[in-house]
Amino acid sequence: MGKVIGIDLGTTNSCVSVVENGQPVIIPNSNGNRTTPSIVGFSKKGETFVGEAAKRQAITNPDRTISSVKREMGTNWKKKIDKTVYKPQTISALILGQLKKDAERYLGEPVTDAVITVPAYFNDIQRQATKDAGTIAGLNVLRMINEPTSAALSYGLDHGESQKVLVYDLGGGTFDVSVIDISDGNIEVMATSGDNRLGGDDFDFRIVNWMTDGFRQQHGIDVSKDFAAMQRIKEAAETAKKELSTADQTEINLPYLVTAKDGPIHLQMMLTRSAFEEMTKDLVARTEEPLMRALSDAGVSKNQLSKVLLVGGSTRIPAVQRRVREMTGLEPSKNINPDECVAIGAAVLGSTLSGNALTSAGTGNSLILFDITPYSLAIETIGGVAARLIERNSPIPTRYSKIFTTAAPFQSTVEINVLQGESFNARENKSIGRFRLGGIRRAPAGVPQIEVTFDINADGILEVTAKDLDTGNFQSITITAEERMSDREITKAIESTKKLLEDKG
Ligand code: AMP
Repeated sequence: MGKVIGIDLGTTNSCVSVVENGQPVIIPNSNGNRTTPSIVGFSKKGETFVGEAAKRQAITNPDRTISSVKREMGTNWKKKIDKTVYKPQTISALILGQLKKDAERYLGEPVTDAVITVPAYFNDIQRQATKDAGTIAGLNVLRMINEPTSAALSYGLDHGESQKVLVYDLGGGTFDVSVIDISDGNIEVMATSGDNRLGGDDFDFRIVNWMTDGFRQQHGIDVSKDFAAMQRIKEAAETAKKELSTADQTEINLPYLVTAKDGPIHLQMMLTRSAFEEMTKDLVARTEEPLMRALSDAGVSKNQLSKVLLVGGSTRIPAVQRRVREMTGLEPSKNINPDECVAIGAAVLGSTLSGNALTSAGTGNSLILFDITPYSLAIETIGGVAARLIERNSPIPTRYSKIFTTAAPFQSTVEINVLQGESFNARENKSIGRFRLGGIRRAPAGVPQIEVTFDINADGILEVTAKDLDTGNFQSITITAEERMSDREITKAIESTKKLLEDKG
């Protein structure tokens, strides 16, 4: 087996790492940078740009540039450019394909095997979409690992002592929090929680709204429909946000933002850190509930925590750090790189999957990783009740079976509706797939015995089987959610992705 790369496929930036001579290293991209913007652009001439090249052309080509596509993973988002329809999986595949190329250039050999990280809070459909993106990029996805677990893995390598660690991961688009136990060479995820629609982008949007409102008040012009102006505003908002992580105030200047009747109009505004904190305090507060839930699910009180690891670029925001300090009573650890540790953990896991032992630097012992599933899983039964088969925070891989029966006399088929979520009311959960089991022998209601089995593999992906114990008939789920890509679509996308990345040399 060749080298296995570890990929952190981020909302804003992605990062790729590999283990060389027993040490994880970050692979720089062709511009020498250690992270690559998760942006794809298509020029009118038919060229494809990925990463920094895509970011550079975003302002002049906003309607043919796609960023933050990770937020759309597992949805039926689509974007038509010229004659091609792109899905989140195909855009992510272009990013992954670029990282694969960067790794091949760096290592001087072909790379096919990869470990890709996903937010712990990604649901089954989002995980499957990520895996499909890897396949489309020509990668053999050996394993998907939760981002906080990956961060803890990179941390656990350097610190052998026993401890309970809280990983607070606020990236560009998602928030994850996990409680992890590192002891005796085991890295065990005890509980995980989060919000997969909360991240740095939301902080940017607040500044964007403040800028467009201010501009309207000053000049009576609504720029929100002007694509090119909005692209510049978005970039300036993110830059201002980052500056406010170290400065108390920042000036935003966008000359020639729009042209009015009597000439060009410039945007010039001053944003203070305290105004920024005021406009985003509800976002910071939204991290509190998942954090408390993760602690209570793990049965760990905050004074049993020995470390808090901050992961993800948005944890550089001072108000976020302050809140974490208030919530946990601990000073967050400064010795891990929030942009790189997730990819490093994935590379370390990749290296172990290719047969190398995973060892803890602290103890020299080999490390074993235990991960968990973030959601409870159930099937819908009579009266709209969600009957649970797997509780959230169960260790994975796992398998669980339960016997169900028919509700009506002489019922010959049952429909299995697979649910993900915490409510006992089926309708309040997310349906992640449905299928039918037919051929049930004629019998009064309640007599047939249908065994439903849920199998979650190490990637956190679920397979469901229903078996009629009388006839032996069984049926496995094919997730019918329309967000899924068919095998045929994936095969076609592999070819077109290869071509798009080849064309750009
Ligand atoms: P990630 O997905 O972990 O790469 O996180 C990217 C997010 O972190 C983006 O929303 C960035 O704008 C944000 N970010 C990066 N650096 C900083 C900084 N210095 N201050 C505030 N946010 C930052």
